[in-house]
Amino acid sequence: MDTKKDSPEPPCDAPPPGHAPARWLTLVLDDEPRQRLRISRAFTSMLVYVICIGLAEYALAHGMADPVATRLLQAGMIVWMVIVYATLRSGLNLGFRDPSLTFLQIMAAGAWITAAYIVFAPVRGALLMLLALTLVFSIFNLDRKRRRIYNGCVVVGTGLTMFTLSALRPDDFPAEVEMVHFVLTTAVLAVMGRLSEQLLAIRARLRTQRNELEAALTRIQELATRDALTGLPNRRHITDLFAQMARGAERTGSPLTVCLIDLDHFKRINDSYGHKAGDIVLQRFADTATGALRESDVLARWGGEEFLVLLPDTPAQKADQSMTRVRAALAQIRLVAASDAAKVTFSAGLAQFRPGESIEHAVERADFALYRAKSAGRDRCVISD
Ligand code: GH3
Ligand code: MG
Ligand code: MG
Repeated sequence: MDTKKDSPEPPCDAPPPGHAPARWLTLVLDDEPRQRLRISRAFTSMLVYVICIGLAEYALAHGMADPVATRLLQAGMIVWMVIVYATLRSGLNLGFRDPSLTFLQIMAAGAWITAAYIVFAPVRGALLMLLALTLVFSIFNLDRKRRRIYNGCVVVGTGLTMFTLSALRPDDFPAEVEMVHFVLTTAVLAVMGRLSEQLLAIRARLRTQRNELEAALTRIQELATRDALTGLPNRRHITDLFAQMARGAERTGSPLTVCLIDLDHFKRINDSYGHKAGDIVLQRFADTATGALRESDVLARWGGEEFLVLLPDTPAQKADQSMTRVRAALAQIRLVAASDAAKVTFSAGLAQFRPGESIEHAVERADFALYRAKSAGRDRCVISD
């Protein structure tokens, strides 16, 4: 499907999710939402032909139109409608740059109305209304360039038609009347042009506002779920994720382990190198640990110099190996200064989630295991019983 920026296709808003159309509607339109919208838009624009065909019947019934020309015109319009519908319904339209065929349909409508203008001489004034209707369609559905092309075609097409008719058949098309029709058509075009410019400005403003709102929403979501210093998920977000993962683990029976990490003697780093250096250590720890963990593991900042890791599909023993990997990765990098005194280590407490227990209880168990790791001399990992 052509969704390029410069696509001449008007915006296709999909119907709200969960809104299943009736079976017959799917058959007539399509089950693909964008195609369905294109076809239903084509049906709306076909109303112009339906009105034209009705007007032709009226003109015929009152002897105001040539029967052969009128029938030919009606047949032509019906065939055109069938062609448009078949092209859209068969999906042939998807090969076009404008899969909605909007420009083609509007240009064709203008041409058919001009033809009807020639055939129904006495009631031709009514056709100017239909022409105005196609201009409204063009405002809503065409970009500026194509709308200008269409307007130009309307001015030149109607001008030439009216001039030629008044020259060839002055009795049916008096020059004075044609002049009024032409002036009216161009005046309506000018007013519509002004309106469409205003509409375009409103649309552009709305688009900018929508983009700004989307950006603000993304930013708010970011602020609500991320820790500003490390960029990791924050405590609230990881708590939500834990609740989700715990439900999943209960459903599938797969092991899920939670791990609480606390950097050892972190106060000393702050005291010796300053708070800024402490911040950098926290950031580098976050990056290093993320790199050492699996894609599916989630590392979050729990608060201060504490981190929480969720390890899905992982029993506690395996999680212990993951922590050894993090420890090894951490040993590879210099976090603060090129001295051993500046080596940063961490203690960790692991708890494998037990089906039925609350996530708060699992974190409490991990916290207690962490406490034991600290008491046992730090720089180690303890698994909760
Ligand atoms: P241990 O955990 O090994 O018992 O010792 P510790 O020195 O790490 O202990 P404690 O938890 O008492 O100290 C943590 C320190 O972390 C205290 C606090 O100033 C510091 N800290 C907490 N959050 C930040 C932060 O965002 N940036 C920096 N630079 N320091 C922080
Ligand atoms: Mg601490
Ligand atoms: Mg600490």
